[in-house]
Amino acid sequence: MKILVPVKRVIDYNVKPRVKSDGTGVDLANVKMSMNPFDEISVEEAIRIKEAGKAEEIIAVSVGPAKAQETLRTALAMGADRAILVETDEEVEPLAVAKILKAIAEAEQPGLVILGKQAIDDDSNQTGQMLAALMGRPQGTFANELTIEGDSVTVKREVDGGLETVKLSLPAIITTDLRLNEPRYASLPNIMKAKKKELDVKAPGDYGVDIAPRLKTHKVTEPPVRQAGIKVADVDELVAKLKDMGIA
Ligand code: AMP
Repeated sequence: MKILVPVKRVIDYNVKPRVKSDGTGVDLANVKMSMNPFDEISVEEAIRIKEAGKAEEIIAVSVGPAKAQETLRTALAMGADRAILVETDEEVEPLAVAKILKAIAEAEQPGLVILGKQAIDDDSNQTGQMLAALMGRPQGTFANELTIEGDSVTVKREVDGGLETVKLSLPAIITTDLRLNEPRYASLPNIMKAKKKELDVKAPGDYGVDIAPRLKTHKVTEPPVRQAGIKVADVDELVAKLKDMGIA
């Protein structure tokens, strides 16, 4: 079985994003970029499935600028076998990514596509669900645990009330949640080896996908600055203040 793992290059999760002064978006100039944290979890899970002898090949794919090759090299250093960059400098919306992934999945025929539950730059939480719908495949989103048995996969999903268990027949689409695993760090020898692994560069047009945006961003603003709190002397004062505010 092959596993396809889409990985997105995003602003590093430790960086505090700054909004451009003209309000057209987030300023990415000279900002540290990394692999989307949920995608690291997807790569880790794919490697664990391969290590357990249940998959033969892991293909990492990214849709983005030439620099997304670095993100793919990270996936290769962690343990992916080969990579595909679908290169574009345009901002690509989840629907266009899902269409490109569908074309790649049709060519590669993976048993599993493991995506992150969301990219931390756009917080869309859409690509995996759209891919499952476009392909007519079962989906197990927000995975907390995966078990593959024969030609099915059992997924424990993180839902509001706790965990829900679903059984999907393969091929299937999975999206990973935070507690699925703890991704490994790539070792130096593996980083060196990753430089020699196959990395194909394609264009969205190679898959016949029109990536023209369907959404228009009107304005991006900083969140309002939080007001400072106040200290109260005792519980009576706290209750009085809450009553004043109409909360108690
Ligand atoms: P989103 O729907 O944008 O929140 O992204 C959910 C997941 O889809 C991510 O965690 C990635 O696995 C995948 N994904 C989204 N955009 C891209 C992209 N440009 N390249 C590769 N994978 C992507």
